[in-house]
Amino acid sequence: MPLQAVRPKILGFISEQASAWLVALVVLLAGCALTTIVAWAASDLYEQQVRQRFQLLVNERFARLQERFEDQEQRLNGLRRFFVNSDDVSREEFDGFAQPLLLRARAYSWAPRVFREQRGRFEQEMSRQIGRPYVIRELNAAGELVPAAERDEYVPVLYSQTQSLLGVPLGFDLLAQPLRRSTLERAHRSGKLAVSQPMQLVGVEPAYATGVLLVAPVAHLSSAESSSNEPYGYVMAVISMRQLVADGLPKPDLDNLVMQIVDTSDLQQRVLFESNNVVADSDLVSVRRLSLGDHVYALSLHPSQVFEQSNHSSLPTILSMGGLLSLLLSALLYVLVSQRQRALRLVDQRTAQLRLREQELRDAHGQLRSVLNAATQVAIIATDLRGIINTFNAGAEQMLGFKAEQVIGQLTLATLHSSSELEARSASLSVALGKRIPASQAMLVESPDNPHEAREWTLIRQDGSHLSVNMLGTVLLDDHGLWIGHLAIYLDITEQKRVYEALAARDRLLKKLSAHVPGGIFQFTLEPRDNWRFIYASDGMRDIYEIEVSALQQDANKVFERIHPQDAERVRTSIRLSALQLSHWREEYRVLLPQRGLRWIRGEATPEELPGGGTLWHGYVSDISDLKRVEEELRALSITDSLTGIHNRRYFQDRLKAEMVRLNRTSGALSVIMLDIDHFKRINDQHGHAVGDGVLQELCKRISQRLRRSDVFCRLGGEEFMVLCPNTDGEQAYGLALELWQSLRSAPMASVGIVTASFGVASWQADEGIDALLLRADSAVYVAKQAGRDRVEVVARALDPAGPQSGPH
Ligand code: GH3
Ligand code: MG
Ligand code: MG
Repeated sequence: MPLQAVRPKILGFISEQASAWLVALVVLLAGCALTTIVAWAASDLYEQQVRQRFQLLVNERFARLQERFEDQEQRLNGLRRFFVNSDDVSREEFDGFAQPLLLRARAYSWAPRVFREQRGRFEQEMSRQIGRPYVIRELNAAGELVPAAERDEYVPVLYSQTQSLLGVPLGFDLLAQPLRRSTLERAHRSGKLAVSQPMQLVGVEPAYATGVLLVAPVAHLSSAESSSNEPYGYVMAVISMRQLVADGLPKPDLDNLVMQIVDTSDLQQRVLFESNNVVADSDLVSVRRLSLGDHVYALSLHPSQVFEQSNHSSLPTILSMGGLLSLLLSALLYVLVSQRQRALRLVDQRTAQLRLREQELRDAHGQLRSVLNAATQVAIIATDLRGIINTFNAGAEQMLGFKAEQVIGQLTLATLHSSSELEARSASLSVALGKRIPASQAMLVESPDNPHEAREWTLIRQDGSHLSVNMLGTVLLDDHGLWIGHLAIYLDITEQKRVYEALAARDRLLKKLSAHVPGGIFQFTLEPRDNWRFIYASDGMRDIYEIEVSALQQDANKVFERIHPQDAERVRTSIRLSALQLSHWREEYRVLLPQRGLRWIRGEATPEELPGGGTLWHGYVSDISDLKRVEEELRALSITDSLTGIHNRRYFQDRLKAEMVRLNRTSGALSVIMLDIDHFKRINDQHGHAVGDGVLQELCKRISQRLRRSDVFCRLGGEEFMVLCPNTDGEQAYGLALELWQSLRSAPMASVGIVTASFGVASWQADEGIDALLLRADSAVYVAKQAGRDRVEVVARALDPAGPQSGPH
């Protein structure tokens, strides 16, 4: 089954595959549509409510006005009945009755009918009653009250109770005025209340000036049954329309309604009252009929702006709130869907990663197990926090003889260790750390001075035998870094220890041997980059070079600093040559030591090639200074004549050869002087051999005194001597020979007297060899003997076999 099939849908209905934008758009559109429907329904309801509210207000207002109108009719009817029921009404009685009626009416008045013939008496009577002149009056063209003109009938105001400050003009004839007259006539005719056309009231504020006159005819009770009964006067009320309608109602700026009252009985349809607040923009209107007396008024009511404001429509709010809600909802859904999709993608990703990790973990676990079991030379043991073993690898089984199942969950690490060793370690650790370390944990606690050190321990095998091991202990932590146990790794060091001990024994042997061998033993390498190094140097090396062995091993050049400057390069060259040819190295050289001064050293070493290039020598050095000294002495002896102490024939020959080598084949100077004692045999014979020896010694002494430093004096044998004169030509040699000859013959020797000798001189000539030169010297002596002895002879060139050619110079 595919994974998607079982996935729940977002919010139960949105597919997870749907685009978040699409979902948001659909929700927005649906929200807008819903908002429109709700707004439409709400607007309908609103209109109904407004209409109802308006109607309620209208009904209430109409009822109140109707009541007021009726009230005015009742009050006037009350006053009329008061007159009807009384025979005569005095002014005081009128005032007493009319005063309380003055509510929402400007004035109440009583005007009797007075006919032409009654006028005079009436005026007199009334003047008497009120105590001042009473005249029936009318308004002239200029608007002034003047005594009324002659007429058949008058209806002058007699009593009046008014709110007006001006008062009612007493005596004012109501019939004098057409408007009032027609009203009276109508009342007269109908016998009922009559209302005047709208008129301007005087003596009141302009706003209250529009009003009507409400008139009721008063007739005698006896004739009251007949409507055609003649009235004898009229009671009337002056009503300000504004006072009647508007008093006690809300002020215009608070009133919900705008009122207009039009007199429909009037042909001109005059407006009696009009509210001065503003009509709202609405089609609501209500027109009612109000009746007062014989007039009918149209009361039209409109809603005011106050009404409109207090009943404003909630449509814009609904639309904006609905729109906003839809927008928010769609945004919310967009976020929800996109987040959910993101979350699902993340879940997919994480699931894949987790699977991969799980596989890796499984592989790693398998690898770890293989590694643990493959490490058969190493014991790997892990414990939990209580010290109980939970891992015991194949190496541990092999090393200790236990099976893993015998150990895991059964034994602790401490049971595998030697308890005495653990206790000793625990005691020393407790001292070092300043707190008690239990023996069971001693193997896991690191030394404060040397952490991470692999320590040596003794383990007890299953068979009870002991095993020496190196142990490395670490703490085991889980993924969150929490301590979950310990890991101990053991290495069997039995073999290692054995090898180490064998090596130590050999080392001791080598030390002993080298201590007894004169000189020093060494291992020396010359690495490819001309790097000299002593791998090994015995203590003897220190005596040879007066350098500490450790310093020597650090820097082999210290040895070359000790070697005599004249020998150092030779030694280096010979070492390089030995490396190059892999030939045995042997060298004798001098060293200059700080304490023992100049010493002779002999070194010998055998080279072998190193695998990575370079050469390794094994060898020794020894001090041969004594040997050298003996050798020197022997050499000196070998070239010295023992009797006379001068050089012997061998030395002479060596020196002569050396001098000849120095000479250029064609130039240079070298001379020899040969001498032979004359008749020495006789001296021996006459004085004995010992005296003869003394003569030889005396002669050497005398000759030596005369010789130059560069001359070499040798005894060739018997009583024959030779002087080798380097850089000396024939003439110089001859001169020297004469000097020597003279030194000998000029003074006698003790007990034998004068001793003479024959001298032969020969100088080296170009292209001449040693033999030829010596032969000429010998020939010269022969010539001197032949010539009688005791003289100096020179042989300039090789003698002919015929005989020597010679002659003194
Ligand atoms: P001539 O004038 O011809 O040289 O005569 P001569 O006697 O010197 O000649 P000859 O060579 O025959 O003699 C040499 C002698 O020197 C012979 C030998 O006894 C002696 N003689 C050689 N060596 C020594 C020595 O070492 N000590 C002593 N006392 N005598 C020596
Ligand atoms: Mg001789
Ligand atoms: Mg002689």
